[in-house]
Amino acid sequence: MPVAPDSWEPAASELSGKTLLITGASEGIGRAISLACAEAGAEVLLLGRNESRLESLYDTIMRTGAPTPGIIPIDLGSATYDDFVNLSSTIAQSITRLDGLVHNASLLGDRKPIAQTNASGWHQLMQVNVNATFMLTQTLLPLMELAPKASIVFTSSGVGRRGRAYWGGYAVSKFATEGLMEVLADELGATSNIRVNSLNPGAVNTAMRRAAYPAENPDTNPSPEALVNHWIYLMSDASEGVHGCALSAQ
Ligand code: NDP
Repeated sequence: MPVAPDSWEPAASELSGKTLLITGASEGIGRAISLACAEAGAEVLLLGRNESRLESLYDTIMRTGAPTPGIIPIDLGSATYDDFVNLSSTIAQSITRLDGLVHNASLLGDRKPIAQTNASGWHQLMQVNVNATFMLTQTLLPLMELAPKASIVFTSSGVGRRGRAYWGGYAVSKFATEGLMEVLADELGATSNIRVNSLNPGAVNTAMRRAAYPAENPDTNPSPEALVNHWIYLMSDASEGVHGCALSAQ
């Protein structure tokens, strides 16, 4: 299912007044989404494990004249449930509500047959891609309930909708991501102002794609910047009513 209608372009202040949290903001798709949402007027909370990259993005956003972003340095691979509880209360001290949450951070992990997959690598991948996603979502839900129209986007993948050989824990984690989206969307549908969707970016020229396909010419894939309107659309009120959908950016 496609995302933003073909002719849709965000207004200059499409996300003005909204506060959004984006994980994996330090590079790739997450960095491009963060910058674009800030340029569309949002206050963006940049979550990642690489503080210097987050600071560099902070400086870039400040130079555009966009609202001052926030930086949340945290390693999703080692953060505990208590860390997420503390994080959400710290965030709640500086904002009155959270309008959007983009779960973008992921690990690719080993591209190996299941028979040769390393168990500790599997656990680490599930920790970042699934468990941290669950814990961050759950602990931020009360802040999102305070927003009149809130939106959660889970980042999926083609291999999270159809399993393929040698995609191992990454593919399984993306099936789990789709499951989390469906269950949460069904729970929130009738009772909440929060809409919940998953988005498969498709092939995008990032470090992850280049690692997964080392023999591919990277220029054959779009840049993250070319696709950001889909995330802006899902974070904006223009997508009101889009809920419980498994979407694709390409
Ligand atoms: P990148 O590898 O370029 O970026 C991943 C981001 O996640 C980085 O900011 C990285 O931080 C962050 N991250 C990884 N592990 C952790 C962690 N433990 N704690 C905090 N942050 C972490 O990937 P893409 O931009 O390509 O991918 C973004 C999303 O899109 C992912 O969910 C991916 O699965 C999905 N996707 C991408 C496709 C593509 O073709 N690119 C295709 C289909 C889906 P750091 O800078 O520290 O490494």
